[in-house]
Amino acid sequence: MDQPIVKVDELSHRYAIQWAVRDINFEINGKGVYGLLGANGSGKSTIMNIMCGILKQTQGNVYIKGISVSENPVEAKKHLGFLPQLAPLHPDLTVEEYLIHAANMRLMPAKSISDAVKKAMEKCDILHFRKRLIRNLSGGYKQRVGIAQAIVHNPEFIILDEPTNGLDPNQILEVRYLIKEIAQEHTVLLSTHILQEVQATCDHIWMINEGRQVFSGTVEDFDNYLIPNSLIVVLMAPPSSAELRQLPGIDEVEDLGNKTFKIRFKESDEAIKQIVNASVEKAWHLREIRIEKTSMDSVFAELSKKGKTKKN
Ligand code: ADP
Ligand code: MG
Repeated sequence: MDQPIVKVDELSHRYAIQWAVRDINFEINGKGVYGLLGANGSGKSTIMNIMCGILKQTQGNVYIKGISVSENPVEAKKHLGFLPQLAPLHPDLTVEEYLIHAANMRLMPAKSISDAVKKAMEKCDILHFRKRLIRNLSGGYKQRVGIAQAIVHNPEFIILDEPTNGLDPNQILEVRYLIKEIAQEHTVLLSTHILQEVQATCDHIWMINEGRQVFSGTVEDFDNYLIPNSLIVVLMAPPSSAELRQLPGIDEVEDLGNKTFKIRFKESDEAIKQIVNASVEKAWHLREIRIEKTSMDSVFAELSKKGKTKKN
């Protein structure tokens, strides 16, 4: 039998006296997008940093293709690409210079670097910016460069820590699309605190709450926990509620005043796409779009209760 691409085995981590991660177990065997979902402070970055060999765990093990990350980090890292939560970009390098630097850091053979960098730039659609200083790129393009450095050495397994954090709604859609594309040829593990992100991108989800795993399953399994599907949308030049209601996939529109609408939908990806596209087409000036927070909170509450009862 082939080794799993990733195996996280009884992983626990303690900062000083405080446990941040407890008894995490999971395995990934195929290509696709896998999601670590959890509120801020739930332990996602700790798990990812350990998986990448940046942080040494207190207990347990992580294996990449059967290679222990803590015991044989150099070998394990050859199969691994990582975009940390704060992308380690060098603002004073051009995109191309930076990616060459990243390829060197990955110990790639010198003669393969130029091709590999070009390929990564093509994949991430940044080839036309290759001579541009990173400091002069938009947030969305900086994130693409961050993803390009994670894939430049063509690793099988790619870890992205909150890859869409801080991007605007259009950039989020673009980066998600890129991630899905990359996942056709690679195994991608991403973390997010945004419920809608896992729904939009992930094939399988592990949810973490206070350092413990409270859910593991498909997006479909996860959706069964979801109560009302609603979005909060702020439009600076809003149409009438009736006009919003006309968009495909929208079930109900409630005008909350102050250019803010609560929108119920059937399928989040489609609803967001419709709203974003219509907003561009009709100049509604979309300022904000997010899953309604209360439903997110209630899912967390529900799942963390389940996590606790399972343990008892
Ligand atoms: P997430 O990425 O899900 O937001 P983190 O893994 O960053 O969560 O943090 C998990 C917990 O560990 C939090 O309570 C956080 O405050 C704590 N923590 C993270 N890094 C450190 C550190 N270097 N020292 C002490 N505590 C930390
Ligand atoms: Mg984090």
